[in-house]
Amino acid sequence: MNDCLFCKIIAGEIPSSKVYEDDKVFAFRDINPQAPVHVLVVPKEHIASANELNDANAGAVSACFTAIPKIAEAEGLKDGYRVINNCGAAAGQTVMHIHFHLIGGRELGEHIV
Ligand code: 5GP
Ligand code: ZN
Repeated sequence: MNDCLFCKIIAGEIPSSKVYEDDKVFAFRDINPQAPVHVLVVPKEHIASANELNDANAGAVSACFTAIPKIAEAEGLKDGYRVINNCGAAAGQTVMHIHFHLIGGRELGEHIV
C-alpha cells in the first residue's frame, strides 16, 4: 500500500489538482484528460480494484457515488456525464487503487456497453 500512487496523492505526498475531498473521498483531475472534464474519484481507503470489494468496504464506493453528483454539478456537467471503472489489466486498469473516471464536458457519443 505504501507504494500506491493514489494513496500518495491522497496523502499529499504527490501533488494533484484536487477538485473535491470529504472524509472518505478524494477527487482530482486526471493527468491525461480524455475530455474537458476528467476527474478521478477515489476512496481514501486503499482497495485495489472492484474485485476486492466486499460487505465491509463497499461503503467506500457508495461514498464515491454520493460525491460524484456534487462534483459533476461543480464542474458544470448539467447535460450529463459518464462514470467508468476499469477493473484489472485486461480492462486497462493501470493504478491498483479503485477509482472512478468522471468524464464530461463534450458530447460523449454512443454508449460503450
Ligand atoms: P486506469 O487506467 O487505472 O483506469 O486509470 C488511471 C488513470 O490515472 C489514468 O487515466 C492516468 O492518466 C491517471 N494518472 C496516472 N498517474 C497519474 C498522476 O500522477 N496524477 C494524476 N492526476 N493522474 C494520473
Ligand atoms: Zn492506494
